[in-house]
Amino acid sequence: MSELPKTYDARAAEARWYAEWLEKGLFHGEAAAGGTPFCMVIPPPNVTGILHIGHALNNTLQDVLLRWRRMQGRNAIWVPGTDHAGIATQNVVERALKKEGRTRDDLGREEFLRRVWDWKTQYGDTIIRQLKKIGAACDWPRERFTMDEGLSRAVTEVFCRLYDEGLIYRGHYIINWCPRCGTALSDEESEHRPTRGKLYYIRYPIADEPGRFVVVATTRPETLLGDVAVAVNPRDPRYAAHVGRELRLPVLGRALPVIADDFVAPEFGTGAVKVTPAHDPNDFDMGRRHGLTPIVVMDGQGRMNEGAGPYAGQDRFACRKQIVADLEAAGLLEKIEDHDHAVGHCYRCDCVVEPRLSPQWFVKMKPLAQPALEAVRSGRIRFVPERWNKVYTEWMENIRDWCISRQIWWGHRIPVYTCAACEHEWAARAAPGACPTCGAGADRLRQDPDVLDTWFSSWLWPFSVFGWPEENADLKFYYPTQTLCTASEIIFFWVARMVMAGCKFMGDIPFDTVYIHGTVRDPQGRKMSKSLGNSVDPLTIVEKYGADALRASLMLLTATGQDVYISDEKFELGRNFGTKIWNAARFMQLHGATPPPDWAAPVFTADRLTSDDRHLLAKLDGAIAAATENLERFRFNDYAHTLYDFLWHDYCDWYVEYAKDILYGDDAARREHTRRVMHHVFSTALRLLHPLMPFLSEELWHGMGYGGADEYLLRAAWPAPRPADERAALGLTPDVVAYVDAKHELIRAARTLKSDLNIPP
Ligand SMILES: [Zn+2]
Ligand SMILES: [Zn+2]
Repeated sequence: MSELPKTYDARAAEARWYAEWLEKGLFHGEAAAGGTPFCMVIPPPNVTGILHIGHALNNTLQDVLLRWRRMQGRNAIWVPGTDHAGIATQNVVERALKKEGRTRDDLGREEFLRRVWDWKTQYGDTIIRQLKKIGAACDWPRERFTMDEGLSRAVTEVFCRLYDEGLIYRGHYIINWCPRCGTALSDEESEHRPTRGKLYYIRYPIADEPGRFVVVATTRPETLLGDVAVAVNPRDPRYAAHVGRELRLPVLGRALPVIADDFVAPEFGTGAVKVTPAHDPNDFDMGRRHGLTPIVVMDGQGRMNEGAGPYAGQDRFACRKQIVADLEAAGLLEKIEDHDHAVGHCYRCDCVVEPRLSPQWFVKMKPLAQPALEAVRSGRIRFVPERWNKVYTEWMENIRDWCISRQIWWGHRIPVYTCAACEHEWAARAAPGACPTCGAGADRLRQDPDVLDTWFSSWLWPFSVFGWPEENADLKFYYPTQTLCTASEIIFFWVARMVMAGCKFMGDIPFDTVYIHGTVRDPQGRKMSKSLGNSVDPLTIVEKYGADALRASLMLLTATGQDVYISDEKFELGRNFGTKIWNAARFMQLHGATPPPDWAAPVFTADRLTSDDRHLLAKLDGAIAAATENLERFRFNDYAHTLYDFLWHDYCDWYVEYAKDILYGDDAARREHTRRVMHHVFSTALRLLHPLMPFLSEELWHGMGYGGADEYLLRAAWPAPRPADERAALGLTPDVVAYVDAKHELIRAARTLKSDLNIPP
């Protein structure tokens, strides 16, 4: 081996090792190899994604687990892939079209989809390349895409099964609608944010009592155009006499009944509320209870429609202004108050979500939720940290049907066909050539124009990636997977639904442990975002300090499941750690270019070991045990700190200093003995370090002469502490550790004293 250069060139080493690992197929696993499986599926990043610091944290955690389990001898694989991200990707391509002055309608469905696929081919692997930069040991030949052929087949299969079982149905329901994206959103995709708004108090004239009103408070006055009633609480004495009477809808003059419903909270506003079934989910339910016909007053772009009478064609917010002015002019506006409330925003484009009545497809969730709830209650699936069990359970207990149709083009098209000749409707696994009922030809058949919610493909991810519904050796061997590593934001979107899908279609849970990590925040505790300008770009950190510095810093700073506060400078922590290790290695090389022949498994005898040797060997055993236990318990930062403390303090600060006297001395036997201790301890520490800092450890593994050609750390064994009897025979006792610790303490005190009193050496 050649001498290590003075400084570690992270950039060159990382590119070189990653290419070599790939070339040797080190990350690949096969069912045929047998053994005990350890499988993880990546939370598939969106094809539109660019690696942000949250991805860096999420994927470093998975990479640490993968490498550690591999070294433990498990048949470990990490299955990668990307998500087609329906709305997000469509938005990206639509924005590009807009620059050309065109819309998706100008192109038509087929041409538009061709553009999206082009975009995907050109830019869709950005995030995959970036994952490789941070060292992700994914089984790349297994990479999947949620719209690839196999996964699309799984989606269609699942849809048809649920449809045929009656678990998928079409209903006219009020759903969250994004007027900008022009599509339905699931409840989870509508993010409720505290918003400063107004509460408008509007007078509804009583039909047969001129000059008298019922005052109704609303935050969205434009929706009054769709009112079909005014409701009060049946036990509210203020309105007892009004129930059953008739009011006049302001502006439009339509007659509205006053109805009594328990849902109305007497303490909100005036205690009387407008009922607008087509534009409010609670009103929709109320309308059903009272047999009222909804009136739709807005279109899919958030513009008022013909139902809005004189306001037809106005944008919803322009209409709000106009109607408030008109009410004021008519003397029907009592007052306006400031009002803080939660308003739904589209999680993709930030637009204010509009509740909208429309025909949509739904999945009945209650029957699917039962086994998924049981899996967590019984402890077969556990969340780490444990507090997420409760969050999951509560959501599952109150689960609502899942709106799965989206009015966009990019995604899995709903495989439901209708026959124009006989009105037969059915779900089919392949485009039908004729109507199965009346035999009408393909030209009379129409496929539903909508596509499925993006999560309808990702909820199948843990088994669709292996080729389900085909039964094969991989699926049998690697399913159920072991650990899922993800963020809390997608417990409902994704984790919970995967458990349901696994139980339903595989008859078994998809994973046994869900590790939920925290959020990366800036030093002020704010979430990182482009608009705040406070985000740390992981790729800039990789450029500047190297991937290992990024990884080690993230792990050192992130306590289990807690948020982490980070700025650019924090990454010096990992970089400095790497430099310290590098310098120790160079020092060792200075005293012998090749490690002693028995570096891997030296046999020490008690009589040769000094108390400092024993102290170091005992600390090494302790570090091995602690590192292993911390990884088993998902305490990633304790694992990182164990290595940091051992390598930095026990090894570099004390032992290397202690060894200097000997290595520069003239007792050849002592020199040789000390070198054996050092190489044994250092090479073992490199193995422990590999999951955390894969590149630096590999560079040193080979640079020091431990690993020959084809001998990579990923193939090396995870160290085990010395058995107790061997420890006792070598005198690696707590007494020795305490004695040397005390000695270190004394030296530290003496140094302080020396500098305090200015005593010359
Ligand atoms: Zn939107
Ligand atoms: Zn037919």
